[in-house]
Amino acid sequence: MGSRRLFMKKVAATGITFCSCCILDAKAQYAPGKNDPALKDAGNDKSLSHRHPLAGTKHKPVIINGRRIPVIDTHAHCFFPEAIALLPANANLNAAVKGGPNHYIPVSDDAALKSRIENMDAKGVDMEVLSINNFWYTMDRETATKVCEINNRNLAQVCAAYPKRFSAFACIATQFPDLAIQQLEEAMKNPCFKGATIQANVAGVEHADPRFHPIWAKVEELGATLFIHPQGTPPLAARLKGNGWMTNTIGNPLDTTIALQHLIYEGVFDKFPNLKVIAAHGGGFLGSYAPRMDHSCFISPANCNPDIVLKKKPTEYLNQIFFDALVFTPEALRHLVAQVGASQVVVGTDSPIPWEEYPIEHVMSTPLTNAQKAAILGDNASKLLKIRNL
Ligand SMILES: [Zn+2]
Repeated sequence: MGSRRLFMKKVAATGITFCSCCILDAKAQYAPGKNDPALKDAGNDKSLSHRHPLAGTKHKPVIINGRRIPVIDTHAHCFFPEAIALLPANANLNAAVKGGPNHYIPVSDDAALKSRIENMDAKGVDMEVLSINNFWYTMDRETATKVCEINNRNLAQVCAAYPKRFSAFACIATQFPDLAIQQLEEAMKNPCFKGATIQANVAGVEHADPRFHPIWAKVEELGATLFIHPQGTPPLAARLKGNGWMTNTIGNPLDTTIALQHLIYEGVFDKFPNLKVIAAHGGGFLGSYAPRMDHSCFISPANCNPDIVLKKKPTEYLNQIFFDALVFTPEALRHLVAQVGASQVVVGTDSPIPWEEYPIEHVMSTPLTNAQKAAILGDNASKLLKIRNL
């Protein structure tokens, strides 16, 4: 048993209150298919179904300086079979992951919702902000419209059934900016929705591309938040084959890193200074090696566009982006906070995939001040996403 796991077990055993991604595979943007065993076997094949090790128990509430801190998980996935059914029959399958079957939580299946809530209770998560990894970027307009409509309707129903346990990032068809704007406007009328999920690029086109700027302008105008989730850096699929699921371990953090660097270097955050973005998995590799960004255009002006004059040093933009705390160790989290600021970090567990089973203990065991721990566990997300009265 690893030392961290042993520590967590001890923590759990002593009742001390304190402590991953993703389902999608590089092919077809990690799209789950009709023949996906996870879908077929949802509710049947228990081999990949996942229960939290402490399921059935309820985590003690987090009390910091006499104040209860509601824990908000900003990185939590789900799928709805009705939308998956619109995928072409030959769509690629999901990677088989623990927690795969637990993605399916249609509101008609209250047992699935209650099971999800049971896992949240065991972790000490008060609210999950649900998101759906994109499988519609390559769909035609009509189908993408239907998929997003189904997903958003189901998400809204889940929120309505358990308004204190679930909120959501809406699905938008980013490949059709005018449609995406309509979908975002519609979604944001419902307090269930806190913004929208986007991937690390739009079927190979970077978010910095001007065609998407009207969407970011609308996101800014509405005070919405974008949740950026990677899809394994598909162009590197050949090199990431082999043992170890490198499309995830390397591909996912890299995908997010590339997405954020484009947004920074291309001046998107200068054009939309109030654009609010949460990056999954601690922003990938960016937080670990950020200062290299500040040197590149000095070292090689030939590789930088003289027409783009950033208002700040590249690393300074990290202080306006939000990052989930899914970086595994207290030292990694301490470093992320040192780089981006405690005001920019929020909880993200990758639920229902068991990458991070002890999000509260993870934060509480990191050398941070009480105020910083409270900020990360709930205060930052509460303020950013306007989640109150939990
Ligand atoms: Zn994820």
